Amino acid sequence: MAKIIFENVTKKFGEFIAVKNLNLEIDDQEFVCLVGPSGCGKTTSLRMLAGLEEISEGVIKIDENIVNDIPPKDRDIAMVFQSYALYPHYTVYDNLAFGLRSRQKVKSANFILSTMEILFYGIIAILFWAFCRYILNFIPFLTGNGILFFWAGLFGVSLMLVMFPESRHDIHNLIISFGSKFNKSIVQLQEEEVNINEKVKETIKLLGIEKQLWKKPKQLSGGQRQRVALGRAIIRNPKAFLMDEPLSNLDAKLRVQMRAELQRLTNKLKATTIYVTHDQIEAMTLGDRIVVLNEGIANQIGTPKEVYNTPLNQFVAGFIGSPSMNFVNGKIINKDGGKVFHSESFSYKIPERYLIGIEDFIEKDVILGIRPEHIELNRSETNNSLSATIGVLEPIGSDTYVYIDFPEFIEMIAKVEGIASFKIDEQIKVKFLDDQLHFFDADSKMRILPKGGIADSQK
Ligand code: ATP
Repeated sequence: MAKIIFENVTKKFGEFIAVKNLNLEIDDQEFVCLVGPSGCGKTTSLRMLAGLEEISEGVIKIDENIVNDIPPKDRDIAMVFQSYALYPHYTVYDNLAFGLRSRQKVKSANFILSTMEILFYGIIAILFWAFCRYILNFIPFLTGNGILFFWAGLFGVSLMLVMFPESRHDIHNLIISFGSKFNKSIVQLQEEEVNINEKVKETIKLLGIEKQLWKKPKQLSGGQRQRVALGRAIIRNPKAFLMDEPLSNLDAKLRVQMRAELQRLTNKLKATTIYVTHDQIEAMTLGDRIVVLNEGIANQIGTPKEVYNTPLNQFVAGFIGSPSMNFVNGKIINKDGGKVFHSESFSYKIPERYLIGIEDFIEKDVILGIRPEHIELNRSETNNSLSATIGVLEPIGSDTYVYIDFPEFIEMIAKVEGIASFKIDEQIKVKFLDDQLHFFDADSKMRILPKGGIADSQK
């Protein structure tokens, strides 16, 4: 596996900048997720690494070697796409074996082997024809029907070869082992076939698709197809895996199942993986680290915990987490000997732990952020609670999303465990968890740090 480095990488399409000044170091065996909304430059970044897109500025290194001018096939990287990209006429076996065969082609042996296969089937057909033409004539009730039997037999055998590709595969192996007795290059091919066979068997076992080995892609479910696509990448034992939304064609349930399988698999393989997704839950669950991209710029690079707990700007705060973080625009003011976040609809006394951070923002515009899971709803007044009205209730089984209305049309979503017992239009008291508030500078939209100042744009 490999270490991958993006150094000031920029990609321009004409005047349009798709990726701007990307700096990213991916450790050997690390799983990094590129996440962001549609069009933010995730796929372009991946394609530049794969060598499918030219780099406008900067360098990409794989294992300390600059690969800007190295063609894709020589980068030793395997890609898995959303669309599976399987060969529809090949069986699972051949789809998996294909990448290995094309790399280890022994041209002359292949030619000899193809000729031998044509000869083999030709001789079988001639023998069968002779059998039908002459022998069957000695059987009284079959006399004169030999040719009919010949065609019927030929059709039957062809059907069997189509329906049972494993028999074709066995005949192929038989011819290879026969040919290897006469030709040295076929010996080499035979060794390769044995090697391929072992690798294919290992891979299908790892992916749990042993029973699908001789099926074609159209006979497989979406999940099985995706496993084959993963298998095609794994079998090559590349330096790194690049995955571009590999699960997005699957239905919601299968996606969750495949996500867990993928996690298990990559843990086992200890592979350097770069995974593109627009689904923040996928990114949070799979990634050792996450790169949150927006409009071609990496807004934050960090572990899922860092990105969730300390988003560097309002975009990251809103993108990571479901339902999204609530934001309210307001000002920090001095009031009653303390500091208060004052918005159009409510004033909120700022807890002690934020006082140093917001010191420089007195009388300045800021944005208060609070996640739905960090809001408590009560029927009676608690310390520093606010009054609001229940707008909408969305029970989802394990939780209820409660839309709460503050004066001046400010709405927030709270996530309440279980089925909430509130009624629409009920007056309630809202409490923000004291240690879970986020403040952002209204001009730059950057995080106001607890020790003062604002966060840097990229970590
Ligand atoms: P999605 O999640 O929708 O696939 P993405 O984050 O992967 O989006 P990219 O495919 O990387 O986005 O594209 C980034 C931007 O670059 C988009 O605005 C896109 O329109 C633009 N872009 C991509 N390829 C080209 C191209 N060949 N020519 C011009 N613009 C392009």
